[in-house]
This record gives sequence, C-alpha cells and structure tokens, in this order.
Amino acid sequence: MKIYFLGTGTSQGIPVIGSNHPVCKSLDIRDKRLRVSVWLSWDEFSFVIDCGPDFRQQMLVSNCQSIDGILYTHEHSDHTAGLDDIRPFNFRQGEIPIYAHQRVIENLKRRFDYVFQTENRYPGSPSVTCREVVNNFPFPVGNKVAIPINVYHGSLQVFGYRIDDFAYLTDVKTIEDSEINKLKGLKVLVVNALREEPHKTHFNLEEALQFIALIQPEKAYLTHISHVFGFHDDIQKQLPENVFLAYDNLEINI
Ligand SMILES: [Zn+2]
Repeated sequence: MKIYFLGTGTSQGIPVIGSNHPVCKSLDIRDKRLRVSVWLSWDEFSFVIDCGPDFRQQMLVSNCQSIDGILYTHEHSDHTAGLDDIRPFNFRQGEIPIYAHQRVIENLKRRFDYVFQTENRYPGSPSVTCREVVNNFPFPVGNKVAIPINVYHGSLQVFGYRIDDFAYLTDVKTIEDSEINKLKGLKVLVVNALREEPHKTHFNLEEALQFIALIQPEKAYLTHISHVFGFHDDIQKQLPENVFLAYDNLEINI
C-alpha cells in the first residue's frame, strides 16, 4: 500500500493568511502544509481519507487519477469543504462512494444540499453514494477491509481507520481502551500532534508521544500540525527515532 500525505496542516493551513510568523515565512517546502488528508492506493484501488478545502490542489499535485471512495473522519470544514471538487472524478467514473458516520452524512446533506438532491439536479453536480460507518463494523474498501476506530475530538466523535497494518487517526484528544485494542501490531500509525502547548480538543506533542508509546507501532508519523509548533527541521530533531513529522507530498510504502 502506498500512503501519500496530501496535507499535514491544521485547520488554517500553513502559511496562515496574513501571518508574519517565521514558520509561515519559512522557505523549507516541508513547512508548507495544506489541510490534512491522505491518499491510500494499492493494486488498482485508490481511496482518500477526508476531502478538505485544498482537495483540488492536492489531487493535481499528487496526480491522483481515480478515487474508489472517500472515508470521512468527521464533519469539520478542514476535512470536508472540498466535496464540490470531486466532479472531475464523477465525470470520468460516475458516483463516488463516501463513507462516514451517519451524523457526518446528515451534516454534509445540509451543507451540500445540491449534491444529495434527487429531483431537478443541476447537471454536473457532484454525485455520491452514502455508506454509513458504524463502530465495530469493519467494511470493505477494494480488496481490503477498513476498521473504524472511535476517538474523541473534545466531545465530538471522530472516526480513524485501520487498513491492514496501517492506521490513520486525526483530531484525537481522547480514546477509550476498547479502541486501543484495535491498534495492536501496526507497521505505521499516523496521529495528530498540533503543537507543544496543550489544546482542548487535539493531542499536543507530549500526548501524541505517550499515545505512540502505548500503541508501539513500528513507525509513527505526526500530522495536523500548527505553525506555532515550529520549523519542521527543529521538531524532527526532538522526536524519538521511530517517530517522524509528516509533511505534504511525503510518500511511504508498507
Ligand atoms: Zn481538523
């Protein structure tokens, strides 16, 4: 499986509009971060997790040619606002399946009502088929199985996903023991680490490292990063040897 980091930034992206923060002015390409998303591909299959406001640019830069489905983590705009830009895929492939918690599907129906309209649809509107994700009910993705991992972003429920020995968790602040059992034996864990200072709804660096130490994946990659965390190079130097700061367009294979 190829894992391609389409975006690794927190909700505003880096650089932040109008910011003079040194990280926003950095010339290191690894300090430019679009909104979080990841592209998974294997055999003839291709799935993305989340579809945020940078989706169009991410699809162009990564040269993604087809999508067999979008797995949503939760409804926040940095994870969902790009839905309108799936149209080029619709024109080539037809409807795209979207996988999400029922609450997230209802939220998308309100925010993108024209996508879900069944009568008098405007020609060329995005088209999706909804697949509800329910915790403890793994579902097929191509010739593999995705296992939902139930986590909390403050009080908001969020799904992470495990496919084979890869797991992607973003916007986590807390996780129950029953879910931790689903994360044994991972080769690669991707998890959010916003910054060094604590945050009400996101793991900070210390919490992410404690979580990684608990899960013990072979390798871990940090994502959903704020500009206040610091420069890529400086952060990477402080990390344990099996923990890496992800960056946009990083590609790994497992
Ligand atoms: Zn987010």
